[in-house]
Order: sequence, then C-alpha cells, then structure tokens
Amino acid sequence: MSYAHRLEGDRRIKLQDFDPAEDAALKREQGEKKTAQLIQELIELQELLYAARRQSVLIILQGRDTSGKDGTIRHVAGPLNSQSCTVTSFKVPTEEELAHDFLWRVHAQTPRAGEIKIFNRSHYEDVLVARVHKLAPKEVWRSRYTHINAFERSVADSSTIILKFYLHISKQEQKERLLEREKDPTKSWKLSVGDWKEREYWDDYTAAYEDALNECTSRRRPWFIVPADKKWLRNLAIAEALRDTLMPFRKRWLDELEEVGREKKKAIEEYRRGRSQLR
Ligand code: AMP
Ligand code: MG
Repeated sequence: MSYAHRLEGDRRIKLQDFDPAEDAALKREQGEKKTAQLIQELIELQELLYAARRQSVLIILQGRDTSGKDGTIRHVAGPLNSQSCTVTSFKVPTEEELAHDFLWRVHAQTPRAGEIKIFNRSHYEDVLVARVHKLAPKEVWRSRYTHINAFERSVADSSTIILKFYLHISKQEQKERLLEREKDPTKSWKLSVGDWKEREYWDDYTAAYEDALNECTSRRRPWFIVPADKKWLRNLAIAEALRDTLMPFRKRWLDELEEVGREKKKAIEEYRRGRSQLR
C-alpha cells in the first residue's frame, strides 16, 4: 500500500479530496516500526547511489507553515550519510537573487551525480507566495509553470530522479501546532507573526497549491500528496515513496559498482605486472 498519493497528471486533483488526518488504519508504533525498516533500506540505497555515481536524487519539500518540512528532514534524512545527502533551504530571495531569473538560484543547488539533495521550499515558492502576495504580475507567475516544467525535465534528463512532496495539513492542525509552539519555550524560536498572517490566506494558498500540483506533475517528476496531520504517517509515507522510487535502480547500481571495481582491479594488476617487485 502506498501511504502518499502519487500524482501523474492524468487528472486534475482538488486538495479537499485528500484527508490530511489519514492514519492508514495503523497505530503509531506500527507506523514507526515500518519507517525504521524503510530507513535501513534507504541507507543502503544511498550508499549504492553514491558509489555508482551515475544518478542523483532531488527531493522537493513544500507545504504550509508548520506542515513538517523540518521534521521530515530530521526524521527521514537525518539517518542518511550527510556526506552525500544535503539540504538547501530557500528563503526570501536576496537582492542578488532577485536581479536574476527565478530559477538562477535553484539551478545552482541541484545535486551532483551520486548525491541526494533536499530542497526545503523551492522554485515553487515563485508560483505560491509570489502569486498569493502579488509579488509578480499574473502573466509572470502564470508563465512560470512552463519554465518549471522545462527546467525539471532538463534536470531529469541529466540523470536526476525527482520526487516532490506536498505536506498536506488541515487548518485545525496548523492552529494547534502554532499554539503549541507558543507554549513550548524550546519551540517558540520558530514562531513568527508572519505564520498567523499567512494563515489568513489559507484559501488563496489552496488554489495556488492545486495549480502547482496539477500543472507540474508527470510520471518522471511526480508530486506526492502526503497526509501530514500525523507526523509519524508523514514520515512513513515519504520514506516509503523514496524507497519505492529508488529500489528499482538497486540492481543497476550494483552492476555498475562491480564493473567499476573490476576496472580498478585490472589497473592495479597491470601496474603490478609492470614492476618486478612490490614495495
Ligand atoms: P521558513 O521556511 O520558515 O524559513 O521561511 C522562509 C520564507 O521565505 C517563507 O515565508 C517563504 O514564503 C519565503 N520564500 C521562499 N522563497 C521565496 C520566493 N521565491 N519569493 C518570496 N518569498 C520566498
Ligand atoms: Mg516559517
């Protein structure tokens, strides 16, 4: 069973048709156990990806404030080897970034062969916050879906596996999380009056997200809608989608590794033959 809903662009979706509080009839402990197993598989897959260095992985995390982007990075990416799994967080663009086209800062951050890159927010902000707050005229943000699709296709064509996750929380759950941050002194550093202000634009964001999800999804660079009211289900859904996407490459990466290993051994043998004695 797939816990995240994979969108392949064959039909338009509406967010209201997906339950943010989904628990897949699992208990939290069962869910956490499954996630732990999936993460073990991901650790092995990451090692093969890194050693084979043929492909790279780009994971895009989007979602409203408090939807769990940071938590996902901590729980799902945390256990991976940080030598080849890194995060880029996209903030309000700097003056320098604004002086360029919107994809300029993004392209510079795509993963190298063998690496996993996680985008905490992404170029999608330019059709989300930019649209909701009218930071760009309608003709400009509308044209960006085409640019995003062309950009992602080009990144996918250069051997990058792309997965995009929309962390789907309910308005009620967001309220509870914001209030909880106020109560917990270890969490209140995350608070921002902006979060309450953004909440007033809830429906505008829903419309903007629906368009982004519908306009920019395909089999090769799918969006996944992740039920995110339950943090443990969110982690499970993302770990599973990653495992299911990467596992079909396992055999290919292993074969490539063996091939590389054989070539290296051959080079050493040739070196030895050329010398009468090893020192
Ligand atoms: P946080 O994720 O809480 O660190 O906040 C980052 C902030 O940067 C969010 O309010 C985003 O909406 C904002 N942001 C990210 N990318 C853009 C962008 N391209 N244009 C405007 N604001 C952005
Ligand atoms: Mg924030």
